[in-house]
Amino acid sequence: MATIASKLDEVSGRIARACDAAGRPVSSVTLLAVSKTFSADAVREAMSAGQARFGENYVQEALYKMAALAEVRPQLEWHLIGPLQSNKTRVVAESFDWVHSVDRLKIAQRLSEQRPAHLPALQVCLQVNISGEASKSGLAPAEVQTVARAVAALPRLTLRGVMAVPEPAGDLAAQRRPHRALRELLASLNAGGLTLDTLSMGMTADLEAAVLEGATMVRVGTAIFGGRPAVA
Ligand SMILES: *Cc1c(COP(=O)(O)O)cnc(C)c1O
Repeated sequence: MATIASKLDEVSGRIARACDAAGRPVSSVTLLAVSKTFSADAVREAMSAGQARFGENYVQEALYKMAALAEVRPQLEWHLIGPLQSNKTRVVAESFDWVHSVDRLKIAQRLSEQRPAHLPALQVCLQVNISGEASKSGLAPAEVQTVARAVAALPRLTLRGVMAVPEPAGDLAAQRRPHRALRELLASLNAGGLTLDTLSMGMTADLEAAVLEGATMVRVGTAIFGGRPAVA
């Protein structure tokens, strides 16, 4: 069995080769290790291999892991990448460093109100339903300009960019299309006066396509920690 350290190495190699192909410096892409369904011990193992940023989908599960890893909290950055209901915003505002899955102004307003004064501003991305799937969460691309302006004005949040989970696609060209659309959306937000630096896109299956289209943060789970049980 490959260790988490060796799998992290492999993923870093994939990112480096994609950066090379894209003519981008390796330092322009940050790896977020998606530890959902894996234990605090797995997070520790990744930490000892030098990984500091972790993504979680489920608030309650993340809180258990944070508690188990409380003594190393200053060395860690916790990112919420899964759906966020309004009854969970307080604990998220109190516990996380980043939220990638903001998909309503109301959620952002609550996070800003509830972010404790002793913590730095919460870093957020707007989740965009870039493939236009009826079942997917995220803002419709047409709504993003308006919501982004309102979120950027909230005092206790820093709007960093946009995030998407595109529909799976087989070949590289098809994978690149939604990532390109998200990059263009970020460019249009910046052309409209915002200064956003984060394109959160690319997972185990499509990180090369995402990096080729400008991803600045790739969210990788399976390639680092292994397969997860299928969700019913
Ligand atoms: C699970 C998940 C990932 C990681 O997916 P892998 O295919 O395991 O790399 C990335 N982003 C989001 C939003 C996820 O839910």
